[in-house]
Amino acid sequence: MPVVHLRKGKDDNILRFHPWIFSGAIATIDGVPAEGDLVRVVNKEGEFRAIGHYQSGSIMVRILSFTDRDIDREFYRERIAAAYEMRKSLQLEREDNNTYRLVHGEGDGLPGLVIDKYASTAIVQAHSIGMHNIREMLAQIIVEVIPEVKNVFYKSTGTLPNRAGLQVEDQYLIGNDDVALGTENGLQFKVDWLKGQKTGFFIDQRDNRMLLEHYAKGRKVLNMFCYTGGFSCYAMRGGAELVHSVDSSSKAISLVEKNMEINFPDAKNHAAYAEDAFHFLDNMTENYDLIILDPPAFAKHRSAIHNALQGYRRLNAKAFEKIPHGGILFTFSCSQAVSREQFRLAVFTAAAQSKRNVRILHQLTQPIDHPVNIYHPEGEYLKGLVLYVE
Ligand code: SAH
Repeated sequence: MPVVHLRKGKDDNILRFHPWIFSGAIATIDGVPAEGDLVRVVNKEGEFRAIGHYQSGSIMVRILSFTDRDIDREFYRERIAAAYEMRKSLQLEREDNNTYRLVHGEGDGLPGLVIDKYASTAIVQAHSIGMHNIREMLAQIIVEVIPEVKNVFYKSTGTLPNRAGLQVEDQYLIGNDDVALGTENGLQFKVDWLKGQKTGFFIDQRDNRMLLEHYAKGRKVLNMFCYTGGFSCYAMRGGAELVHSVDSSSKAISLVEKNMEINFPDAKNHAAYAEDAFHFLDNMTENYDLIILDPPAFAKHRSAIHNALQGYRRLNAKAFEKIPHGGILFTFSCSQAVSREQFRLAVFTAAAQSKRNVRILHQLTQPIDHPVNIYHPEGEYLKGLVLYVE
């Protein structure tokens, strides 16, 4: 196995169990690892420090183990079984809930791997070439370890780096599922993992949707950036007076309509609009007193933070301008590069600009099936605020 030698003192992050090794920490490599190969990592003095997947780029090694052990089928089996056991013990697998994230990368000790579960189908998403290379084995392990899973779909064309020779195809590795309905807290959602965004559904908003349901009664709800209508369905169940869903993608809008139809076939108080958010907020005439803003990640990289913060400020300012006295705003950022403090400052600036009196009711984050490895704070990406606006 190729050996990565670190520069002097550059094993300090590893001693704190951080799972990434950046290119700048590496002095030399013995052997020529191919993309995705396992490598051993040693410090300047040659002492073993870690073992992980090699990949050229800024993050060069994604660490799988800090102890010297075989990274074999049994290793992956143990980690996936542990991730599943955790979800089961936390009551995520229930008759009224079969939709959750099974493996959340570094949060589950498997950097580069995401597995989402919808009813009897698991969607495997590789973010590293190391995980891509072992996709068939991972699929076999998943159906062995998780009795509820019968089908495994591989979806990584959007998440892997473009490297010459990498053959990536979105496809079923095991079984086939054309029903594609996931149940979340008793609501049913059509999940389009073939063509939809991410693995087809934004599982990470589950707890925040539950909270929204609690506030929806009698309110006029605007679900901005609705995607497949998760928040909209919870608002409806919570007794909203009306629910309007907006997304710029017309495919998303047809899925919202489908999901509304599945859960509330008789509802007359829902409407969905395929429109740009800023355009809609500028031109709306309805007096929405519960607004959800859940935009896509405005900053995909550190370099884009400044523009992202301007985007969050502008968007939230529009909501503050329009929301009536006593209105409630659920506002989110899913940009990993934007910190909780930066997001809060952007929303604060928007509030000040609108001269509204604003109180924070809740500070939100991602749910328990998206756990953050305490040694990898970068894993915390979802930030939200629930605000009471006077
Ligand atoms: N709240 C959703 C997830 C939102 S993802 C849920 O709970 O499932 C972000 C969504 O914003 C995507 O569906 C994307 O199509 C939409 N979007 C991106 N840019 C937009 C814009 N300018 N106006 C409206 N929608 C936009």
